[in-house]
This record gives sequence, C-alpha cells and structure tokens, in this order.
Amino acid sequence: MAAASQEEVARKLGYASPAELILHLPLRYVDETRITSLRDARLGDTVQVEGVVEHAEIQNRPHRQLVVQVLDGASGNARLICRLLHFYPSQVALLKPGTRVRLLGEIRPGFFGAEMVHPQFRVVRDNTPLPESLTPIYPAVAGLSQHAIRKAVAAALAEADLSDPLPARGHFPSFADALKALHHPPPDADLTALEARDSLAWRRIKFDELLAQQLSLRQAARQRQVLRALPLPDDGALGKRLLAALPFSLTAAQQRALHEIHRDLAHPYPMNRLLQGDVGSGKTLVAALAVLPALAAGTQAAVMAPTEILAEQLYLKFHEWLTPLGIEVAWLTAAHKGKAKKATLAGLADGNIHIAIGTHALFQNEVNFHHLALVVVDEQHRFGVAQRLALTEKGAVYPSPLTPHLLMMSATPIPRSLAMSYYADLDVSVIDQLPPGRTPIATRTINANRRAEVIARLRDYCLSGSQAYWVCPLVEESEKLQLRAAEESHAELVALLPELHIGLVHGRMKSHEKADVMSAFKAGELHLLVATTAIEVGVDVPNAALMVIEHAERYGLAQLHQLRGRVGRGARESSCVLLYEGPLSDTAKRRLKIIHDQTDGFAIARADLLLRGPGEFLGARQSGQQLLRFADAEADADLLEQARNAAAALLERYQGGVQRHLARWLPRGLDLYRA
Ligand code: ADP
Ligand code: MG
Repeated sequence: MAAASQEEVARKLGYASPAELILHLPLRYVDETRITSLRDARLGDTVQVEGVVEHAEIQNRPHRQLVVQVLDGASGNARLICRLLHFYPSQVALLKPGTRVRLLGEIRPGFFGAEMVHPQFRVVRDNTPLPESLTPIYPAVAGLSQHAIRKAVAAALAEADLSDPLPARGHFPSFADALKALHHPPPDADLTALEARDSLAWRRIKFDELLAQQLSLRQAARQRQVLRALPLPDDGALGKRLLAALPFSLTAAQQRALHEIHRDLAHPYPMNRLLQGDVGSGKTLVAALAVLPALAAGTQAAVMAPTEILAEQLYLKFHEWLTPLGIEVAWLTAAHKGKAKKATLAGLADGNIHIAIGTHALFQNEVNFHHLALVVVDEQHRFGVAQRLALTEKGAVYPSPLTPHLLMMSATPIPRSLAMSYYADLDVSVIDQLPPGRTPIATRTINANRRAEVIARLRDYCLSGSQAYWVCPLVEESEKLQLRAAEESHAELVALLPELHIGLVHGRMKSHEKADVMSAFKAGELHLLVATTAIEVGVDVPNAALMVIEHAERYGLAQLHQLRGRVGRGARESSCVLLYEGPLSDTAKRRLKIIHDQTDGFAIARADLLLRGPGEFLGARQSGQQLLRFADAEADADLLEQARNAAAALLERYQGGVQRHLARWLPRGLDLYRA
C-alpha cells in the first residue's frame, strides 16, 4: 500500500481540509512505551516484548500461517511463538532469522510455551528509542492504515495554531494540552478515563464542541433579531371575550405559554417559538388566543396543519371560537375548488378574511395575503423545513421588509437537553399539564390470538353507549397494502358486529368523504370508527373512550402515544388495547412496555430517545442538523449548561475569538434548524 498524502487521508476520512484532522480523535491506545521482559509477562497480559527472530516458517496445519519464533536474550533466553494468520510476502521477507523485532499483543498459553496470535510488530535496531507517549488507534476507513493516519494527524497538529481563541476556563486544560493528551497521552495516563471519554482533556473538547454549537445557534438567533416584524402588542380585549364564552378556564400552563407567546409578538423582530404540549393538553385553544393580537391589529394570520382532517378540525374550532368576535375565518385545502376557492383567495388578497386555516395548500403560488403577520404551524414535525419557510415567505411579500411571526406546535415533545442543544434558536414554551377532569387511560397489551375476545368486549362496550376507534395495522411498504388492510379489517368487523354502526376512514379517501365519516362519528351516529393513522393527530371526539390498535408492534413510540391520545379526552374512563402479533423483537417488546407503563408524553419521548438515539429521534435529515461528534446532549448535560451560559457572555465581548472558535469547530458552518 503506497503511503497516502495528508490530503488523501483527510478526504478519505470525510474532512474538507487536512486542518480538520486535529479533531480526528483516537478511539483507543496501545502502550508501546515500555518493553516487558518475557520472563515477567503473565498469561493474559497485553505487552510489548523485544527479541530476535530465531526461526520463521509458513505452516499449513491446522491452517496456513506464518509461525515465528523469537528469542528474548535479555530475559534469560525466554522464547515466544508468534502466529500470523494473514500475512504478506513482504512480511515473510522481513521476519528473517537475526532480525530484531518489537511485538505487541496478548500473551497466551501455547503448546510450546508463551504465544502471541497476530501481534502488532515492528522491526527495530538494537537501540531504537521507545516512543514517549501511548500510540493512538484512530477511527479508520478501508484503504487507510493507522500509520498513514497517525502521520497525517501529527502533521496537522504541527501546522495548526492551537492557541485558545477565547479566555481560559479555570478547570479545563488548554486546547493545545487537551489535544496533546488525547492524541499522544503520556505512558502513565488513565486509560480507562481516556477510553471512556471522561478525562479532563475529553471534557474540554466536548465543552468546546458544545460551545461552538451554542455560539452558532445564538448567532443565528441574533441574525433573526435583525429581521423586522410588525410588533403585535396584546390589549387582551378579544381574549377576554373568547374566554368568557368558554365553559372552562385556561390551565396555569396554558396561561404561561400564552403569556410567553404574546410577549414575543410585541417585539419588532419575528417570533420563532415552539409550543410543546402533550396530546390533549389544549394547544389549539392557546393557538386561537395567540392569533388575536394579529387580528386586533387588522393584519392576518394563517394556521397550517399537516392533513385535511386536522385542518378541518382546527377550522371548526377556530370558527366556533372566533366568529362570535367578528373575525372572518376561512379554510383552504387541496380539495377546495371552483367558486368557493375563488372567493377565499379574493378574501385573503383583499384582507376581508382575517384568518386562514389549511394544509400546505396555503402556500401555493396562487395564494396571496393582504398582510400576513403571524403563521401558526400545527404538528410542526410533520412538515419539512422548506414547507415552513414557504409559508413565512408569503408574509415577506407585502409590506416587503417585514417577516411574519412564527408559532410552531408539537405534541412530540423534545426532551429539554435536546431542545437546548438542537433548537437553541427556537424559544420553547411547554404546556406541562392536562386540563382537569381527565381520567388516565388504562393500556393493555394483548396477544392477537385473543382477538375474538377483544371483539366481543368491543360489542358490549359500544352497545352501552360509548364509541371506539379500531386502528388498522400499519403497512409501511405501500399505501395500497395499507388501504387493503384497512378495508379488510372494516369488512371483518362489519360481518362480526352486525348490530353496530361502523365507519371507515383512510388516507386515500376523498376529503369530503373523510369529512362526512368524521362528522358522523362526532355526532355519535357511528359506534365504531375503523381508521388508518389518518387519525393520528388532532382528532378530538370526547365520547370515544376505547381504542384498539392492531399490530401495535409495528408502530413507533411517538405514533402509539399520539394514537392513544385520541381517547381519554372526556370524563369517562378510557382504555387502549394494543393487540400484538408474536413473537416480538426485543425493541418491539421494549416499546410496548414503555407505552404500557407510561402515559406522560415527555417520559415517553425520553425513553424513545434512549432507544433510538438523537439522530433518528430528531429526524436528522429533515432538520438538516449536524449532530454532535463528541459530546452527548444527555450524558454531558452539565457541560451543555455551562456552554450555554458561556456563549451569551462570549458573544458580547469576544467577537473575534468567537469567530475563530467557530472556524475551528464548524469550518463548514452549521446547517441550522431554522423555521
Ligand atoms: P392538543 O394539545 O392535543 O392539540 P386540543 O387542543 O385538541 O389538544 O385539546 C383537547 C381538548 O381539551 C379539546 O376538546 C379542548 O377544547 C379541551 N381543552 C383545552 N383547554 C382546556 C381547559 N383549559 N380546560 C378544559 N378543557 C380544555
Ligand atoms: Mg392538536
């Protein structure tokens, strides 16, 4: 293998330039700093010994191998047998009798005494000096030798400016010392702490990484504050009227969230806030109250939902709550056509319609707002970044220098540590409380071989005046198969339960068909609603208190939690039956146990995070987020907190240093999670 150039090494390892190699940190180390005499080496020890080749031959039994006998003269002529199972002709040529070698490996018992299988070896002279530091083993890729990586990294370290661009932090070593301790640790270094990535040097590096992330996110937040938005102070008048008409009052958590939103809206720069709240925590009402300042100011608001069913549900709620206040509410989805659509578009363009609720149809080219000042995105995680951007850009058209305020809502809670590290440019409000009077949902996991029993119970339940959902198995491979599964379940239940009125709703239905079924269910005309995950989010029918989920093992945790959240919305006792088909995989087992034991969405999200890791959890591709290389937002929460605190002060006082720190850590910039 020809020696790779530094550029080649950097490129193969995925770096844009050799300078980035300074942060290519070792996975582990081997100790070549001392030589153990063969006499002192104990079985099982990994040691380096030195000796002279006495004899070498290729044997063919039990399998082809190069067997080398080494004599340790300094050790009273002790002998070691080395076995190389894979070897090159060049190695055979090297290991001639008389050659002095250093061998590193584990001492094992062999038929003829001590042995090493596949030792790492080096040909040396009598007086070749020993290295002064532990030898790093780097993450590698095929076609790159450790030797080449070591050389390239060492060269990068020698060339780089390793000084600290930002003021020293008392308890950490300097950047240069930290890198030295990691790339070339002294022989007496604590290997356990090093390899567990828990030494002071590691903590400095992780802190620096988290600091870079926090600095760049904060910078982005500042850039947002340079954008202009129409300040929308709240005088509270419309809100008072809306609340007076409701049969309940806001929970303390709803009030807090609403207060935070209204405070942001009063600023002359755009709000970028995420409203998190568990399923059923009452985000819709908060959203309806949140838009009032925009309407009071004579501007418009848009509310975007990921599905037609959800858009319609939102529309019905907003219509019910806001129309009595003299507010014109309209809705717009892909299903709206002809005259009605024309009227809506005209109303949006001339400002006679104050608030538009809809799906992504809201940001099609033909839609123009008179003065869009606030955008609300429900279930934001279901939209891509581009879709959200498109809607906020609608507002930038007129009056041109202004950007609309943005409120995003999500029932898939992001644990605090993750939110802090990946969404630092996003202000987060949390509704951590459910409206009073909800009874907890009892969850049961039942083997599908007891399906008939479950169906019999379902009949009694529905005949006693309650309503229920039957959620069909998820078929990820194809929407067609998914549809067939839904139709089959529906047909079967209709046949088995002739005394019940049973509806079917799925994603392939025309939207007016869906709407008809949903409103029949809402009105209590249907006992049972057979559904695909079309009902996953937002559906609100308080009288439905039982849900059966078929093939629950196919669903993810967040999805199960969302689905289950469709029941437990009224005062009656609710339950959720998870039918599963055995045998279950370990992950499926763990998932079902979590959903069975936990009802709190935040606890479920944390468990989900542990099960899947942050990349998959956040949907790294969707958020375009570069994940952390060294630090872990959960495990290093203390460092994250420190970095977050330091970032604010540093940005104030050390602009130059901040830019150098960012250039070192994020040479290619941070692909920001932006609205
Ligand atoms: P989600 O947060 O999942 O979007 P919703 O906004 O659909 O929840 O609210 C669930 C139900 O709770 C709705 O029927 C809503 O009218 C009701 N609700 C909202 N706030 C309160 C409250 N403070 N007290 C009682 N019921 C409430
Ligand atoms: Mg909702």
